[in-house]
Amino acid sequence: MTPEGEATNQPWNSGHQGLGGLENAKPFPCPQCVRSYGSKSALNRHLREECGMPRQHICYLCSSAFSQRCNLHRHVSTVHARDSKPPNL
Ligand SMILES: [Zn+2]
Ligand SMILES: [Zn+2]
Repeated sequence: MTPEGEATNQPWNSGHQGLGGLENAKPFPCPQCVRSYGSKSALNRHLREECGMPRQHICYLCSSAFSQRCNLHRHVSTVHARDSKPPNL
């Protein structure tokens, strides 16, 4: 009586499951710098918004430059919180 659902005795199912260490590896290294990312979308975001093209987000109020859009948003919402009206050109 050998139920086919049992797979404990099959040789290909025993061992070789603990490839420890690879779980922390980030398989998407940036080709332009030392950073690496766990997903391709994260790497693409880095390449698009950070790597190779720094400081591309310019504050329209004081022309300060930031490498990330979130930093620009934070800058605008903190520094220019008082006069938060964009130029109406
Ligand atoms: Zn990079
Ligand atoms: Zn500014």
